[in-house]
Amino acid sequence: MTHRILLRAGHVLSMDPVIGDLPRGDVLVEDGRIAAVEPEISADAEVLDMSGRILIPGFVDTHRHTWEAPIRGVAPDATLDDYFVDILDTFAPLYTPDDVYAGNLAGALECLNAGITTLVDWSHINNTPEHPDAAIQALAESGIRAQYAYGSANTSLADYWFESRIAIPADDVRRIRSAHFASGEGLLTMALATRGPGFCVDEVVTAEWALARELGLPITVHVAMGRLAGRFGMVKRLHGLGLLGPDTTYVHCCYLSEEEWRMVADSGGTVSIAPQVETQMGHGWPPVMQAIEHGLRPSLSIDVVTTVPGDMFTQIRAAFGAERARVNADCWQANMPVPDTMLTARQMLEIATVNGAHVAGLEDRTGSLTPGKRADIVAIDATAPNVAPVHDAAAAVTLCADVSNVDTVLVDGVIRKRDGRLLADTARALRLVEESRDRLLAAKEEKEAKATA
Ligand SMILES: [Zn+2]
Repeated sequence: MTHRILLRAGHVLSMDPVIGDLPRGDVLVEDGRIAAVEPEISADAEVLDMSGRILIPGFVDTHRHTWEAPIRGVAPDATLDDYFVDILDTFAPLYTPDDVYAGNLAGALECLNAGITTLVDWSHINNTPEHPDAAIQALAESGIRAQYAYGSANTSLADYWFESRIAIPADDVRRIRSAHFASGEGLLTMALATRGPGFCVDEVVTAEWALARELGLPITVHVAMGRLAGRFGMVKRLHGLGLLGPDTTYVHCCYLSEEEWRMVADSGGTVSIAPQVETQMGHGWPPVMQAIEHGLRPSLSIDVVTTVPGDMFTQIRAAFGAERARVNADCWQANMPVPDTMLTARQMLEIATVNGAHVAGLEDRTGSLTPGKRADIVAIDATAPNVAPVHDAAAAVTLCADVSNVDTVLVDGVIRKRDGRLLADTARALRLVEESRDRLLAAKEEKEAKATA
């Protein structure tokens, strides 16, 4: 029997250019799929009253190291250089599969609670073959839509960065792919999270890119950020190795040269920008307008909860503020009026939803409220004191709302949050992530005691 859910009388921001906005609209979901988006629908269905709610497609986070949830907030003042030492060299080597499980479960539930329905899990914590299984199990149990990006082991900074010779284990990538992702359907898909030129030697880069292409896995790689990698010319080096392609997402991109921007655009690559991290930790200016000016459709990502908040509202505001600050400062210097091509509040919603789906390679199934796509839908409470009264619904979401206003969340047509309450065993997730925190801190102390003994 067909299972129908009717979201009734919301203010629909479909992010589909054909459907547009419906100030009073209904969304019909049939067996997890969006069946119709119209001003009024009558159907024999479970009805969710959406009056006073703004309906948007779920946010898409295109790069998060979800495993870091147990060490949330541990490095509040870190620069990127500090982060390599404090997180990748200190905590990452201590991670057990249980820590990865706890981090991914708590991190994925955090996403759902905040209206992020699709997550690219950039998982460079595969210290043993049990680590990827634990990460994937937690993602599956949470009910989120996720692209699991299989990354390297992280057993020491020397192994991980700086002309590393250690490659992602091809046999284990093949095992994980056939064990969990054989169909390419369902909520979980797979990618390869590679380090790229400068962080590992060219033979490793070439082997990892070849592995991804042999298996048809999209590639995600950090480029052009911070004091070190900002000078590597990573995209140019990838071009030199003949490896650029439309299957690759470039994360950060703060210091890409003009030539490199053209290389990314011409090769059909995609871009993920983590604005709060980039402004706060020294990666560089979030290059939202640069990406747009090169014909790209940039997306947003959270990156690390060790140092920044884990929600999309923060990213939206960080990108919007930083981009406009940069343009305003340039115009002040030149004593010119600001251009009318300034980034808009509505563009930010597009960047956080449908652009994210494009970047994750999932635009055929999520990113907009379009009949035929899977039902990944978020309702924002527009009656809350920080949102009401609404003049411009897109701006109400991007500039007024926060996580406390995420009222209802559906992923693949399954209700994961209702009336502001997550429908999950949050007590268990909290217990596991706190136990993980305690275990990691104890292991860190033990390691430090040994080092000074
Ligand atoms: Zn990252």
